[in-house]
Amino acid sequence: MHSGIRRLLLLGAGHAHLHVLARLAEYHPADLQVTLITPFDTQTYSGMVPGLVAGHYSKAEVQIPLAPLLQAGHVRWLAGRCTGIDAAASRVTWQAEGDAVAQTFNYDLLSIDTGAVLRPERMDAEMPGARRHALALRPIETFAALWPDVVALSRERALSLAVIGAGAAGIETVFAAAACLRREGVPGATFTLITGGPEVGSGYGIGVRERVLRRLRREGIQVLREPCVGIDAQGVRLGNGALLCCDVPLLAIGTHAPAWLEGSGLGLCGQGHVLVNRYQQSVSHPNVFAAGDVATRDDAPHARSGVYAVRAGPPLAHNLFATLEQQPLKAHRVPQRTLNLLSCGPGHAIASWGPLHAEGAWVWRWKDRIDQRFVGSYQRNVPARTHPASPQTKDVGTPP
Ligand SMILES: Cc1cc2nc3c(=O)[nH]c(=O)nc-3n(C[C@H](O)[C@H](O)[C@H](O)COP(=O)(O)OP(=O)(O)OC[C@H]3O[C@@H](n4cnc5c(N)ncnc54)[C@H](O)[C@@H]3O)c2cc1C
Repeated sequence: MHSGIRRLLLLGAGHAHLHVLARLAEYHPADLQVTLITPFDTQTYSGMVPGLVAGHYSKAEVQIPLAPLLQAGHVRWLAGRCTGIDAAASRVTWQAEGDAVAQTFNYDLLSIDTGAVLRPERMDAEMPGARRHALALRPIETFAALWPDVVALSRERALSLAVIGAGAAGIETVFAAAACLRREGVPGATFTLITGGPEVGSGYGIGVRERVLRRLRREGIQVLREPCVGIDAQGVRLGNGALLCCDVPLLAIGTHAPAWLEGSGLGLCGQGHVLVNRYQQSVSHPNVFAAGDVATRDDAPHARSGVYAVRAGPPLAHNLFATLEQQPLKAHRVPQRTLNLLSCGPGHAIASWGPLHAEGAWVWRWKDRIDQRFVGSYQRNVPARTHPASPQTKDVGTPP
């Protein structure tokens, strides 16, 4: 690191970077210039997005405004997106929102927490027509902006809505959408969960899957265990040749690594995510760190979910600052077992911890309290924190 101003560049305002931003309020050497490149001035907390869809929360309740954190941490914000990294030259290429011209930014230390994405070319290959005819859950901000249009449409006619993808996000979203449109829309709306082939919630144990299926039946949500092979103006084309007529196809499918990591020179995993060691440090470039869905741990690969991004925040902040201070780095121990709180319709949720599981209104209230406490702690801009108030509650490392 050179002797003048040291430039720390943060890419994305993801869950781990929220913690880094909060810590910067307490740690700010005079020769350190910190810049954040991210497109939005708020960070939407995905764990509460199904609650936003259901109408339990307002947009303001699920969003963390970045301005107070940036101000307290003396961080400069560049509203835009990273479009490329040249790790050998320690340079990032980025584009301001609405600007076609790419700009460059040289860094001394880089931290990446930009999440995973839906890659258009992969969607076109796997599910032709999806980009044009379906509403994707990601980017969450775009989805949240468009959801009120679906609600408005549901007041004109009974809609048929299908969620494609039956992982945690798909399950929660179909329950939430049904709760909202049955309350707000004209009667007669129909709801379908398309699993793509596997069981509903295939990542869960049998006990949780049975509970989810019971709730789906109770809420009158149809389940189709078929792959979706295309989407057009009529609806969803299924692997068995059938057409599911559908007004609103919602994509809750698995995500990809961003295309701009290719050619960065950074060591990547087989799926193209930044490969990091136990310090959340790039295995190829020691002045690059990464956390959250954009990264893969080489020693302890784990599911891509908010909890891991939240958990990586404190060690990431520690190791960024330790690098600047030329101090030893601390290993981040990835939690092995996680508590899982899955919301399933109005005021109801399923909890699981290893082989144990339970459900009820009390689980929903538990999840609600944890989520609100987490978002609230950043909304109130508490500057000094050594731990996040609470992780995302779909995969929580330890029970509160
Ligand atoms: C509907 C829904 C519900 C979910 N519920 C849960 C849950 O309850 N529990 C759970 O554990 N997980 C949940 N997940 C998964 C969870 O959202 C992700 O795993 C989590 O958001 C990953 O966090 P992250 O920090 O990696 O990135 P993100 O939270 O995705 O944040 C990425 C940040 O980077 C910014 N960004 C994106 N691209 C660029 C770019 N090119 N340049 C600069 N900035 C960029 C974004 O604007 C954002 O600020 C849910 C997902 C969805 C879709």
